Amino acid sequence: MNFQDMRWLLDILDVAIVTFLIYHIFLLVRGTRAAQMFLGLIAILLLSALADLFRLTALNWILASLKTVWVVAFLILFQPELRRGLTMIGHSRLFRRIFRLEEGSHLGEIEDALLNLRKRGLGAIVVLERNTGLRSYIETGTMLESNLSAELLETIFIPPAPLHDGAVIIRGNHVIAAGCILPLSQSMALDRSLGTRHRAILGVSEETDAVAIAVSEETRQIAIAEGGRLIRNVDPTTLKAVLSQFIRAPKEREERKEERSRETVESAAPVASEERRRSTGVPQT
Ligand code: ATP
Ligand code: MG
Repeated sequence: MNFQDMRWLLDILDVAIVTFLIYHIFLLVRGTRAAQMFLGLIAILLLSALADLFRLTALNWILASLKTVWVVAFLILFQPELRRGLTMIGHSRLFRRIFRLEEGSHLGEIEDALLNLRKRGLGAIVVLERNTGLRSYIETGTMLESNLSAELLETIFIPPAPLHDGAVIIRGNHVIAAGCILPLSQSMALDRSLGTRHRAILGVSEETDAVAIAVSEETRQIAIAEGGRLIRNVDPTTLKAVLSQFIRAPKEREERKEERSRETVESAAPVASEERRRSTGVPQT
């Protein structure tokens, strides 16, 4: 097939792309004050095309000289919509996948919330869902399904807020539920000084592939549980690295978890060895 044969195909593609763009721009501005302006702009563009087609020289001249003004006027008038559109592109799944933005941005919010809660001496449990669905635990709490933000997470755990007790469950960049009850670990190896909050994060990590994080109200320490192991006293600088390592490589970890379950269960490893491991970077479980 040579280029001429493909011409009609390219024309169809051209029309399809323009239709797609106009439709999406319209969806974006629909219901805003920019909608009428957008329709006005379309009318002027059509008029310009007609003037060109019928060779209406004078009209064409006026419209052509207005073109540069349009560009500037467009940018000024549609500034809020353009900003919203660009943000939407940035938040789109495809874009995030290409640039691997998803993990970074929402983990940052979680990290900020955890560190602030720790500073205030408030207890919290945050569970990050991975491959295993957490529906049975979500159902024990209150559904929220809201966009994730550090402020929201912090607000939930401030007592006496009705949802401050129990765990928050996060899927991607959404807070799915709060006040959830997690299964308590029966592990005998767990340090006796640790109470039910820590048993709960260890418990959910034993039964699912979720990553669970606790902020201790008593010691103001952050603990992370994953694959039936508990990493205690995670310092702020390593928190993000540990989280993104866990979130980025769920598959790889899943395989290792299977391997591990064949070996003897090693849970709640001594703090000292975990500390050493953390100081050399992201812990390898
Ligand atoms: P901390 O270091 O914060 O005191 P801890 O490990 O000593 O934690 P507790 O003092 O028993 O644990 O913490 C109790 C809190 O942990 C409860 O108020 C509740 O919010 C939470 N919690 C306890 N059990 C569960 C559970 N099964 N599921 C979810 N959250 C739980
Ligand atoms: Mg306690």
